Amino acid sequence: QAKEMGRNQFRFFTESLHEQLQTYIRFTREMPVALEKGEFLLNYQPQVDLKTGEIIGAEALIRWQHPELGIVPPPEFISVAEETGFIVPLGRWVIATACEALRELKASGYGHLRVAVNLSARQFRDPQLISMISQILKDTDVAPDQLEIEITETLLMHDVQQAINTLQELQALGMTIAIDDFGIGYSSFNYLKTLPINVLKVDREFIKDIPDHLDDMEITAAIISMAHRLNLRVVAEGIETQVQQVFLEEHACDFGQGYLFSRPVPLDRFMALLPATEARAQELSD
Ligand code: C2E
Ligand code: MG
Ligand code: MG
Ligand code: MG
Repeated sequence: QAKEMGRNQFRFFTESLHEQLQTYIRFTREMPVALEKGEFLLNYQPQVDLKTGEIIGAEALIRWQHPELGIVPPPEFISVAEETGFIVPLGRWVIATACEALRELKASGYGHLRVAVNLSARQFRDPQLISMISQILKDTDVAPDQLEIEITETLLMHDVQQAINTLQELQALGMTIAIDDFGIGYSSFNYLKTLPINVLKVDREFIKDIPDHLDDMEITAAIISMAHRLNLRVVAEGIETQVQQVFLEEHACDFGQGYLFSRPVPLDRFMALLPATEARAQELSD
């Protein structure tokens, strides 16, 4: 029986590896076509000012509307795109689409909102990154301070000096830089004071067990106050309950994002969450 189980496990193991390889090959082949066919889309998840409850912007999150597989979430294809290098054109599309959204928001009277995009390691190291972004900003007539860049700590560890240079160039363009998933990676508080960054996003891992895990509450409170001392603004990710919202607000966390406020939604649904403006009312009556 043990032998049989071992064999089954072995089969399961090889099959799953085989499947992984199949998916890898399939996605590698399909992604460039999918981009041309318009199968990728961005959803927008609101970021809320925890003091006032106002929406201050959104994080743009990519989806693949696959003709056979349905909606494919990013963790399943971003890593493939990263390895094949397709993340560079795909990432350009993400930034261009987010800037189009910013332009549309501005035209509807929401020029004060920010949109954040996620950058992966390969994109971040692309020597064309800065010129690509500034070209898109110019073409779409978007103010650089409306575009926020999210990067992870792990991404910065490869070459810290090079990362600092790139971040400085992005900031010089006027963009805001956020550290994503803070606390779960290879964190070093020491880097925080050296890095040119503006925003720290506390990973959902610390938020999800509030109020059941006291240690998570202590850590979250400590991250917020440390970030504030370093002059960073803090976004809490993955807020799902009102208890979590109240806890974060009481600990002076600036902004929040999570299913409690809204899931990531298409642009029109995001805009429907915003308070009415004159421009928006005009647009809707047209
Ligand atoms: P992330 O940047 O940390 O994004 C937050 C993820 O948490 C999103 O998953 C979002 O849908 C999810 N989330 C937000 N609020 C809640 C909540 O209250 N509860 C729970 N359980 N989850 C919540 P998503 O959209 O599947 O994205 C996963 C990751 O894929 C992102 O993590 C980001 O690292 C990456 N990603 C997404 N879009 C892009 C992109 O355009 N480019 C790159 N390079 N990576 C992307
Ligand atoms: Mg993010
Ligand atoms: Mg995150
Ligand atoms: Mg815990």
